[in-house]
Amino acid sequence: GAVIGILGGGQLGRMLSVAASRLGFTTHIFEPSANPPAGHVADKVTTAGYEDEAALRAFAETVDVITYEFENIPTSALDILEALKPIRPNREALRVSQDRLTEKTFLQDLGLATAPFAEVNDAADLEVALEQVGTPSILKTRRFGYDGKGQMRIIDLSEAPAALAAMQGAPAVLEGFVPFSHEVSVIAARSLNGKVACYDPGENVHLEGVLSTTTVPANLNTNQSMDAVLMAGKILNALDYVGVLGVEIFVTGHGLVVNEIAPRVHNSGHWTQEGCTIDQFEQHIRAITGWTIGNGARYADVVMENLIGEDVERIADLARDPDCALHLYGKAEVKPGRKMGHFNRVNHTEGREGY
Ligand code: ATP
Ligand code: MG
Ligand code: MG
Repeated sequence: GAVIGILGGGQLGRMLSVAASRLGFTTHIFEPSANPPAGHVADKVTTAGYEDEAALRAFAETVDVITYEFENIPTSALDILEALKPIRPNREALRVSQDRLTEKTFLQDLGLATAPFAEVNDAADLEVALEQVGTPSILKTRRFGYDGKGQMRIIDLSEAPAALAAMQGAPAVLEGFVPFSHEVSVIAARSLNGKVACYDPGENVHLEGVLSTTTVPANLNTNQSMDAVLMAGKILNALDYVGVLGVEIFVTGHGLVVNEIAPRVHNSGHWTQEGCTIDQFEQHIRAITGWTIGNGARYADVVMENLIGEDVERIADLARDPDCALHLYGKAEVKPGRKMGHFNRVNHTEGREGY
């Protein structure tokens, strides 16, 4: 079988490696930090930084296709890799999703609703942005934010200077606060020959900026579910995308608003491991290797719950529960807010068609 190169050795890289191995592929992980979660299951690991041109070249030479588990890969590294092997999903998907301003502009140009937004590089910009967008709003760094990091809420105008200071000079975007009733996400996939498949939308609950649970089915009516899935399809086609994509959506009384997109397998898609014949990890591997992709059909109602930081204390009890499908990432060190594992609880349903 082919060799799949994966940039990033965290839990997503680990679960991608397991899926790849199950289909007879070999995996090679590229990861700067030592002893990564994916290291225990991958066939090969290169420990090197993204500035190490020789290591990047050597990595690319051993693989047939390159994918990734996170979107913040430096452009210089991508330039080196792309000259040697195909990168899937493509560079455009990375370019658009690496920067919140580019991302929101792209979504708006596609005709999808986003929060009102404005670019902020300094105090003068912020003043103009606050006039345009109003309050309450959220100031976010354009790049490198995850799990709610690099974000400051501005409820009252007096909070603006502190919010700007927290950006530490990084380019930022001011987003109007979307008064959502709940949050959902769609995990969707597109194959090399352009076939699109979507999983059912899941409903997400965040705690302190970090995903806590995903519940499927989400609380959506038929029109909303269809809209969510069509939004994902529109994004996939516009990007000529190959692989799995996550689309985070706010549900409001005036329709669905896209929050952000992730050009990769997504934490809110972990329920597919127990809910679907072909889960998001296998789906991604199938797509990037040119296989036929699964149809997204779901045969169970699922609740996925993340084990974050001190939640590891629950593992012993969860492991004794015969109805709990536990997925642990093999991380030795527990840190507050660190994702240590997750579990899925299922209720089998009659089985239904996918999108
Ligand atoms: P992730 O780990 O999902 O990549 P992130 O750091 O990129 O997180 P966002 O998804 O932008 O952060 O925001 C995290 C959460 O904060 C959202 O899921 C939502 O609950 C809330 N939030 C973000 N932006 C807005 C907004 N414009 N209006 C209302 N709530 C928001
Ligand atoms: Mg994000
Ligand atoms: Mg998010």
